[in-house]
Amino acid sequence: MSTYARSVKTISTKLAVIALGGLVWSGANAVQSTAANASGAKEVNLYSSRQPFLMKPLLSAFTAETGVKVNMVYMKKGMLERLKAEGRNSPADLILATDIGNLHNHDAAGLLQPVMSAVLDSNIPAQYRHPKGHWFGLTVRARILYASKARVKAGEITRYEDLAAPGMKGRVCIRSGKHVYNISLLASIIVADGIDGATAWAKGLKANLARKPQGNDRAQVKAVYQGECDVAVGNTYYMGKMATNEKDPGQKKWAQSVNIIFPNQADRGAHVNISGAAVTKSAKNKANAIRLIEYLSGDAAQKIYAERNFEYPVKPGVALHPLVASWGTFKADKAYLAEIAQERTRASKLMDQVSFNN
Ligand code: FE
Repeated sequence: MSTYARSVKTISTKLAVIALGGLVWSGANAVQSTAANASGAKEVNLYSSRQPFLMKPLLSAFTAETGVKVNMVYMKKGMLERLKAEGRNSPADLILATDIGNLHNHDAAGLLQPVMSAVLDSNIPAQYRHPKGHWFGLTVRARILYASKARVKAGEITRYEDLAAPGMKGRVCIRSGKHVYNISLLASIIVADGIDGATAWAKGLKANLARKPQGNDRAQVKAVYQGECDVAVGNTYYMGKMATNEKDPGQKKWAQSVNIIFPNQADRGAHVNISGAAVTKSAKNKANAIRLIEYLSGDAAQKIYAERNFEYPVKPGVALHPLVASWGTFKADKAYLAEIAQERTRASKLMDQVSFNN
């Protein structure tokens, strides 16, 4: 059994222990690792909100190359609260999370530490990492428009700003305005159009919604397929996940019913976001944590990310999945994600101010 399979198998029991007794995850291992650390433990403890199906091949490849064992705990939710509660005793050396919002929230809570790495600086464009090394992008996704092939004419919608135009009444679907993806999108609009422009946009978009915000990104494309709305907002990789979905083949029809539009190609470019990694302040295996992030930003890992999850590699020059390549090249908003992250608090308040979800 691989190292990874072993650590995953133990996750459920460890989580159960936490629920019952409040014992810290992998309590025995954590003690071992602290004790062994002085002599250079060949392991690293990872909290990941990225799913096991994606991380398994990446972590196995890392262990095969370096001999460093990765103890991964998968957390769909609650990572921030967990790290806060564990404080300096947290066994976590690094985290993996999606969206600049989640990474930024960990940073704002003082849970991360700066990392200096020439490898990371070289592999990851500056736009996609924290200027002082508090977090690093590992994959890129664009937040794009999914437009009905039947009901949206070519060229009719080309910008995020078009979603808020008067002619779009009742035609737009989007998930909760408070979801991290949409807060980041709105923050990018604050950066581009200013707070007044962003306020007008959020109000205009709300006025054009076909229904109250609900469901996830894929549910919006389903609603387009079902005729509830004509255009939806979603992340790029969902197109790949729907178009190739053998478990739920109905999703292929949702994908077939839409064209994808990369917004704002004639001006600032499409809003892009990342999944990324960061070293925790509590890290006891810091060198191994950095080594893992460096590995994940390298060619071999970037290729696995691209192949398995329909995301864009963060490292320039790594091949795209053929399906992703078929969507064509696009211009990405050049705004630094660290700058967009600074506007997230205002964006979140703005969503409340315009009662976006009600
Ligand atoms: Fe997602």
